[in-house]
Amino acid sequence: MSQIGFIGLGIMGRPMSKNLMKAGHNLVVYDVVAALADAVIADGAARGESCRDVAARSDVVITMLPDGPEVEQAVLGPNGVLEGAAAGTTIVDMSSISPMVSQKVAAACAAKGVEFLDAPVSGGEPKAIDGTLAIMAGGKQEVFDKVLPILQKLGSSVTLTGAVGAGNVTKLANQIMVACNIAAMSEALVLATKCGLDPEVVFNAVKGGLAGSTVLNAKAPMVIARNFKPGFRIRLHQKDLRNALLAAESTKCALPLTSLVQQMLIALMNQGHGDLDHSAIALFIEGLAATQVERPK
Ligand code: NAD
Repeated sequence: MSQIGFIGLGIMGRPMSKNLMKAGHNLVVYDVVAALADAVIADGAARGESCRDVAARSDVVITMLPDGPEVEQAVLGPNGVLEGAAAGTTIVDMSSISPMVSQKVAAACAAKGVEFLDAPVSGGEPKAIDGTLAIMAGGKQEVFDKVLPILQKLGSSVTLTGAVGAGNVTKLANQIMVACNIAAMSEALVLATKCGLDPEVVFNAVKGGLAGSTVLNAKAPMVIARNFKPGFRIRLHQKDLRNALLAAESTKCALPLTSLVQQMLIALMNQGHGDLDHSAIALFIEGLAATQVERPK
């Protein structure tokens, strides 16, 4: 069984590393926040002293970091993964980052004989805990085949969607659909409330029809209950739409709806809502209509 290194032990990384240990893998782990590493070491992992040390002791290194700059720092930076990795090591970056950064990091890895796969996930903390994430990967078929048994311990669906960067393009597509869906749902619930209807009745009336969706089922009840506890934070979704717009700019692709929702997310962050669940996009739409989605008293 491969010796696995795991770097980035936050909301997602901790349960993912736990599932790998449950499946019988030996893990060596590192996070810049020592207390987060301590928690995973208490679960049975070995302590890595740095990203470099983790890589030197592993065949496969998984990274689960916030965004591209952190991935570049952890892999390419001083004391980083590439300083420790032997030729033949495979890096699987499961963070949601810009596809262009994935390609840049992969090129630096290739120069050292290190394989790289981008493999971001969808499903959030609950599915990270259950080991039922949707994983979308980019890279060479033979590298994907090699790490597939590991990824299958973390997700119930694991799909290779193309060359390096394709995993993150797929993730950005996912994030565009989710964000625009929440914004449209928010407008619909605000209109229904403003017209004097009970938003819960409206939700129940439409959820079995064409407007029904996983997003609607998960997020409409949160808005109606005024529960904006994350889930997935506004600031992370803003980061994803920013990466989508950067990819769009570099390919001369117009994304008007994504741009609009991105502006909403920036406004919400400026209003101090960056750490609320992304269902709080409703707060922005409510502000425009001076109407709060709620059931009639
Ligand atoms: P998080 O902020 O909880 O965890 C990231 C961890 O990386 C932190 O513990 C941080 O200390 C560590 N870190 C940062 N820089 C580092 C470095 N240079 N070396 C070592 N460790 C470093 O974030 P998260 O919620 O676990 O998300 C991780 C990634 O997964 C993000 O790209 C996010 O967009 C994506 N994602 C998150 C969710 C979710 O619901 N939280 C869902 C799907 C995808």
